[in-house]
Amino acid sequence: MSRIQALPPSLVNQIAAGEVIERPANAVKELLENSIDALATRIEVDIAAGGSELIRIVDDGEGIHPDDLVLAVTSHATSKIAAAADLFDIRSFGFRGEALASIAEVSRLRLRSRTADQPHGWELEVTHGRLSPPVECGCPYGTTIEIRNLFENIPVRRKFLKSVATEFGQITEQFTRVAIAHPRLHLVLKHNDRVVYQLPPADRPLDRLQTFFGQELTDQLIAVESAHAGIRLWGYVGHPSVSKATRKQQYLFLNGRWIQDRTLQHALTEAYRGLLMVGRQPVAFLFLELPTDQVDVNVHPTKTEVRFRDAQQLYRQLLSTLRTKFLSLDLQSRLTIPATPATPLMAPTLQPALAFAPARITEPVRPVEQDFAAWAKDRLAQWTPDQPPQLEHAADIGLEDEKPAPAEVPPNEIAAATENTPPPSAAEPLDASRALQIHDCYIVLETSEGMTVIDQHALHERILYEQFRARVLAGAVESQRLLMPVPIELAAKESALLLEHAELLNQLGFGVEEFGKDTVLLTKHPVLLRRVELPELVRDLAERLESNGTASPTRRDLLDELLHMMSCKAAVKAGQRLSPEEIDALLQQRHLIDDAHHCPHGRPTALTLSRAELDRQFGRLG
Ligand code: ADP
Ligand code: MG
Repeated sequence: MSRIQALPPSLVNQIAAGEVIERPANAVKELLENSIDALATRIEVDIAAGGSELIRIVDDGEGIHPDDLVLAVTSHATSKIAAAADLFDIRSFGFRGEALASIAEVSRLRLRSRTADQPHGWELEVTHGRLSPPVECGCPYGTTIEIRNLFENIPVRRKFLKSVATEFGQITEQFTRVAIAHPRLHLVLKHNDRVVYQLPPADRPLDRLQTFFGQELTDQLIAVESAHAGIRLWGYVGHPSVSKATRKQQYLFLNGRWIQDRTLQHALTEAYRGLLMVGRQPVAFLFLELPTDQVDVNVHPTKTEVRFRDAQQLYRQLLSTLRTKFLSLDLQSRLTIPATPATPLMAPTLQPALAFAPARITEPVRPVEQDFAAWAKDRLAQWTPDQPPQLEHAADIGLEDEKPAPAEVPPNEIAAATENTPPPSAAEPLDASRALQIHDCYIVLETSEGMTVIDQHALHERILYEQFRARVLAGAVESQRLLMPVPIELAAKESALLLEHAELLNQLGFGVEEFGKDTVLLTKHPVLLRRVELPELVRDLAERLESNGTASPTRRDLLDELLHMMSCKAAVKAGQRLSPEEIDALLQQRHLIDDAHHCPHGRPTALTLSRAELDRQFGRLG
């Protein structure tokens, strides 16, 4: 066995560099944070070849005193803390005193700095950790740091660098985080001498969000804010109609620092439960401000993870802030039509899902609404009562049994659920018998407010989802036992998974039993799903369980997902002709649902056009 020896400082620095500086983007982050700590108001970032050739950061901050230049690149030397107690009152981004030393160990670093009281600047060079003494130089106030040939002396590390585009993408991400958290900074980012971002100081993070994520997304953001026990939470979250496949557009900042936190991510997901399509992620830009003694930032070398003193409290605050906001907003999509009629429509490409108009948040009528209004107007102009297509024809050639039934769920079933009396609603239908189904897909309704267009599938799906869920939670799902159990053949893994989740499925009203190799027996099913193609549904359930495989979702998430799927299957489809009674039943049910404005996938179920807007559109007002 070898004997123990203390490592030479340069090796210690290289090890530290491995932790903190994994790629050029980490160096950029450290340098940006240093400039902010130095109270810079303008920072320019120059990159060449994805950062592997050059990273140059020029700031107009306080600069470094000439006597401190060498200390700046010495490990565990910092101007930001002095005693252990300071660790629990961190007000700067840096405090470990190792970034510059680590970077200097693995690159050619040149540091130039001038403080306000110096007649000229000083320059210092470090090559692979070897320092040459500071010399005088001409330079403006502030600090310039140049890093060339990162990892030049650690070929293994350099080999791990990805393409220029990838590395620059990572740098852009770091730059974006700083730019959002510090809108008042003037920031410039250049790549290979081309300006990529030129950001003058802005008042609010929202301005920066527009630059980075586009107007279309920022138009769909909802402002949130709350303060509780000295903790302020504010920012913007996406309307459910904008969602993403990953968490990439969830930004969380703690006292100006970008962080990742599982507890808070979870709170966010929870807040959107039932509002987003399964597997979709909300968009969020949230800022947390809390006293420094409530959080330990010294738990992660790059400080992107922190430890909160009371994480549960933050969880609750985030969840309730968002939920309260969502409840206060009528998430029903509302057509807002500009005072002057919209210009003829450009292209009817907008999905109704984009039509959300948070009129109470941003006052001026925004282009997305105008486009949508034009689109909707066009659709409305094309109204003609549809002839039931091909029905007689289908009967003639003996296909009657195969043609889709008018509605797979008969009206008495749609109407079956509860005896509550409908609560009074602002948009009470005046006379349901005058509701009109168009394109076998939408129901148009005269209401006391104006008119409403309802997506029949989305609404029915939402109703069924709520009904299912209420029953499942009450443990009162009605099951239909099959006289002849149905054997269903599956992939080995799927049948195993189904049996493994037999109890969960039982809660949903399904009975599954083992039946020899790779086959399960379906012994009962929920009454509400009587019209659904059962083997297919069971296969879909199995698939869903499998796709969840390794992620091991909570039981509640799983149940929720399966509920979504079942309601989608059981709901009337787009393209299904409904009888007047069925339309009536659907509309009556509408009032029994807490959130009838969105289907469980988060799409709107209804659009409203007010009487006043109609009048204005047709020039009936002043
Ligand atoms: P830390 O930021 O953790 O203190 P660094 O290695 O990043 O450690 O920096 C070391 C010291 O160099 C800082 O404490 C600071 O005093 C000084 N420094 C670094 N960058 C700048 C800058 N851009 N402007 C002024 N001072 C700087
Ligand atoms: Mg630092």
